[in-house]
This record gives sequence, C-alpha cells and structure tokens, in this order.
Amino acid sequence: MSSEEFSRRRETLAAQGMGRIAEPYRDIVPPIHVSTTYERGADGGYPGGRIYSRADNPSFDQVEATIAALEAAAAALVFASGQAAAAAVFQALAPGDAVLAPRGMYWGLRNWMVQFASTWRLTLAFYENASIDDLAGQVRARRPRLIWIETPANPTWDVTDIAATSELARETGAVVCVDSTAATPMLTRPIELGADLVMHSATKYLNGHSDVIAGALATARNDELWQRILVVRSAGGAVLGSFESWLLLRGLRTLHLRVGAASANAQAIAERLQSHRRLSHVLYPGLASHPGHATAARQMQGGFGGMMSVRLRDGEEAAKAFTGRLRVFKRATSLGSVESLAEHRASVEGPGTLCPPDLVRLSIGVEHVDDLIDDLERALE
Ligand SMILES: *Cc1c(COP(=O)(O)O)cnc(C)c1O
Repeated sequence: MSSEEFSRRRETLAAQGMGRIAEPYRDIVPPIHVSTTYERGADGGYPGGRIYSRADNPSFDQVEATIAALEAAAAALVFASGQAAAAAVFQALAPGDAVLAPRGMYWGLRNWMVQFASTWRLTLAFYENASIDDLAGQVRARRPRLIWIETPANPTWDVTDIAATSELARETGAVVCVDSTAATPMLTRPIELGADLVMHSATKYLNGHSDVIAGALATARNDELWQRILVVRSAGGAVLGSFESWLLLRGLRTLHLRVGAASANAQAIAERLQSHRRLSHVLYPGLASHPGHATAARQMQGGFGGMMSVRLRDGEEAAKAFTGRLRVFKRATSLGSVESLAEHRASVEGPGTLCPPDLVRLSIGVEHVDDLIDDLERALE
C-alpha cells in the first residue's frame, strides 16, 4: 500500500475501494479476474506473478487492501465465509494449545469451536464476556495461546474491553483475535487497541446486502502465525470466488454510510423502546443502562452499531408472537444488511442454547427510522 493510500481517511478509502485505477483501460471499478491459471514464461518463471488462483487470485487484491487499510492492519485475507476465516485461526494452532473464548458468542462458531477443540486436542475454556476480572484470572491460570473476543457479542451485545484484554495477553504471550463483525472497522479498530488479529463475517456489514457469504481476517503483523493462516487458506482451499470478491468490494464502498445510518437508527429505537411496558430488557451498548456502555463508549467511535436484542416480559411465546406480527422487519436470521431483520434467537440456536428464550434479536437496517419504530410498537401491542 502506498503512503498516499494510507494517509486517506477511512470514508475515502472505503468509498473509492482504495481509489486504484486498473490498467490497461484505466477502469475506476476493478475487473473480475476469472482465470484459474496463469501462463509461465519460456524460462519456466511466472512473469505475471501468479500461478494458480486458489493461492493468489488477483480478484482478492483490492478488497483485501481495502479491509487492511480500514482495520489499520499489516495485511488482510478474504475467505469463503466467516466460519472459514475463524476456522483458519484455529487450524493454525498446534494440538495442546489452550484457547479462551467468551461464554456468549456467535452460536455457530461456538459449536464448531467445541467440536474442533476436542478433535484437534485444544483445551478450550470460556470466560464471562463482560468481566475483565474473570478473563484475567483465567488468562493467568491457563496461559492460553489464543484469546477469542467477540464484541459487541451475540446475542446480548456484551462488550469486552479489547485494550485491557490485549494487555493481559502481552503479559502471558497469548494472541488476541477479535470477531469484530458487529462493530465493523468504522466503529472499532481492534488492532489499534492492541489486538493481533481481527475476524469478520464479511457476509454481514462489510458486504451489507445479504447477497454474499464471505469472511475476512486482518493481522497486526505479517508474522509466523499469519504465514500459517495463509497456508491454511491456500492449501485448505476455503477461498472466496472472484465474483463474490468483487461484490464484497462493491459493498465495502458504502460501509461508512450503512453503518452510520444503522447505528443512528438503532440508537433511536433503543431509546424509544427502553421503557416499553412489554419489554423487560433492551440490550444495546449505546444505552447508559447497558452493562458494557462505559467500555463501548471508549472503544467504539461514531456509534454503537446496528445490533440489539429485546426481551419480552411475558416470556418465550410472547417473543415468538411479537416477531410474527412484524411487517417492516423481516423474520430471518443473519444481520448487518440494509434491511432490518428480527429473529427469535433461541429457536434458531436449538438445543443447548444459552440464549434467553424471551429474547428477540434485531438487526437494524437503514430504512426510515419511524417505519421501524411504528412496526415494533405495533407488534408489541
Ligand atoms: C455470521 C457470523 C459468523 C459466521 O460467519 P459466516 O459468514 O456466516 O460463515 C461469525 N461471527 C459472527 C459474529 C457472525 O455474525
């Protein structure tokens, strides 16, 4: 990345997808490279610098550079999904390594982690998301190789202090990886707070239109661990397609606008609903009543994101009936898109879920906020 690219503000880098111009036609939008293979020179070398697109598809270059710049990272990699990006971090560990993960986190990844840890012989322990004291005690006792953070974390949006965790990790030589899917680099830059790795389900805010499954990792340093992760991707083969890479870059170009609008809508909705008589809790880090608010105010800039959950006073059946009455919000899983989604979370997580049964997760989109508020208030009555 040139120093000129680095000096630009994030909004400019995002809007222009790094502002690169593609030769030979001086395209403002990069072409989609579909070739899987590249011609060798007569001497057997690779004059184009590429060999085979499982390892190094040029369609990744600009989207990875954009994610790295937004995250203030040394490098970034895109993956076939968020799960594949997270799995690459775990596959780069060695059997016997200890991992600390939050009790509350994205359910699909938690389930995978528990299974993988047993087959890969990792020792896996969980800490209380919002408690730096619990985390500190466990870090000192267990000496983990990897500390996983998700913040704000599904489905209660608990906030973990990235700077304090990174400080603890430095004491004991652990690597900190932050699942920053909900915060996005527009609100939180984990590497600037001391984290080593950042993971995204790029399916969510980075792409932002519910039409691509993708993942990303960004790293503070191009070190040995990163080299292992690179091999996991190129040899393991969980690569993103060329067209998906292009769509992801297109989505990234409005990241700042979408995240700003979703955060503003979510803040207004949370404030409006916080004393609603049918709700026992409105879980949103932007509310002073949220246990993670003070930490969130320190490590999130420009808003608290578009994700919140509400808990119905009348319990599980009331929560399900509430989602059934929504009209503007669509009843669907996933998050981070331009359209608002609502989901009875415990029923999608299934047996063993830690999610309260009366909880409905809301992914706030960029629609007119009054339409969203009207829909929620009508469905609550
Ligand atoms: C969706 C999600 C994932 C998994 O990502 P996929 O792109 O669905 O594989 C991981 N973490 C969080 C926080 C997510 O929301």
